[in-house]
Amino acid sequence: MSKHKSHHDICKICRSQCCQYYALQLDTPRSYEDFEKLKWFLVHEKTKIFVDKKEWFLEVLNPCRFLTEEYHCSIYDKRPQVCREYGITSEGERDCHGSDAHIKHDHYFDSIEQIDEYTKKRFSRKSKK
Ligand code: SF4
Ligand code: SF4
Repeated sequence: MSKHKSHHDICKICRSQCCQYYALQLDTPRSYEDFEKLKWFLVHEKTKIFVDKKEWFLEVLNPCRFLTEEYHCSIYDKRPQVCREYGITSEGERDCHGSDAHIKHDHYFDSIEQIDEYTKKRFSRKSKK
């Protein structure tokens, strides 16, 4: 994912954050039961959930096996297409979370307590409507 040529300097500073996890999109949780199911992911180590632009993702903090200690890609010429496309829009703008190492998501959950808190607020708001 890292080391788009035009963003090479930024990628160096960021130490290849995007190569240190993978994320999979989740079905958007809607019911109380859906949120209960999300908690099962979060009982596992190195597993988080984040929300960006109303889309929910499971994040697994598991570095790529091809990332070197110097934060280089050891299979750069053969890296997957996902890696080649990550972090840049079709207009050529940078679009990634790693540049300043401050990942900003709309929501970020790393414990079942945080899901409980979110669920409590969300469903109490609905019941008041
Ligand atoms: S997260 Fe962004 S800045 Fe960091 S290495 Fe990946 S593409 Fe480069
Ligand atoms: S293959 Fe290379 S660019 Fe892709 S995630 Fe692994 S280290 Fe990063």
